[in-house]
Amino acid sequence: MSELPLKLTQISPRVWILPRHPDKNRVQATVGMVIAAEQTILIDAGNSLHLARQIQATLAAIAAPPISHVVYTHHHWDHTFGACVYGVPAIAHRLSRELLTQMRQENIGETFLRTKVERNPRLILNWTAEDWAKFEIVLPTITYEGRDRLQFGDVSLELVHVGGVHAADSTVIRVVDDGVMFLGDCYYPAPGYENPTDQMLDMAMLASLLDKKYDTYIDGHNAPMETSFVERILRSRAVLARLNKARQT
Ligand SMILES: [Zn+2]
Repeated sequence: MSELPLKLTQISPRVWILPRHPDKNRVQATVGMVIAAEQTILIDAGNSLHLARQIQATLAAIAAPPISHVVYTHHHWDHTFGACVYGVPAIAHRLSRELLTQMRQENIGETFLRTKVERNPRLILNWTAEDWAKFEIVLPTITYEGRDRLQFGDVSLELVHVGGVHAADSTVIRVVDDGVMFLGDCYYPAPGYENPTDQMLDMAMLASLLDKKYDTYIDGHNAPMETSFVERILRSRAVLARLNKARQT
């Protein structure tokens, strides 16, 4: 079965993304691609083998160097389940390794996703029986704690553990020379909300991540945000908080 390549978006000289799917029912998070001189590093793996194979084919079509590593922003399935397609080492926080090991032991996979679809029949998940037979959770073999800087040829990635209510292992990945920061889902509410409202976002965390050296902030399930946009939402949120406080007093 041949399929059209995916539509990637270039963010900076070395950073491309497969944007999150606009249909939330597909639970398809943003996948980042950091294209160095001789290797490509993926930020998150895609939510399925099907998507991972499409990512591989699309990178080949644009003659990107081979994928050398995948870095997980956190352990959730929609960010990690495509990893076994690439056959490369995964990098993540020590806690991500623990949580993924636990998921492996509990056999989190087909039944888990099937239950999700039973609960919410609008979900569209691209999994076949053949894919499930080949599926395995890829544990990170390279782990870090706190903060780490990794060099991939001409590209430096800085990994910062931020944790938070969405996932205790949330990591922010900073593409140092390109001024691009991958946030994963770090400032989102705890998982399980079908339609989280903006009020549930951890704006204090988002504010704390703003850094003058970074122009673009990319999270798992929204469009990329420029600094000015982040500042605008933080300002409007601060105004709202003041109004609410004034109303209560
Ligand atoms: Zn998540």
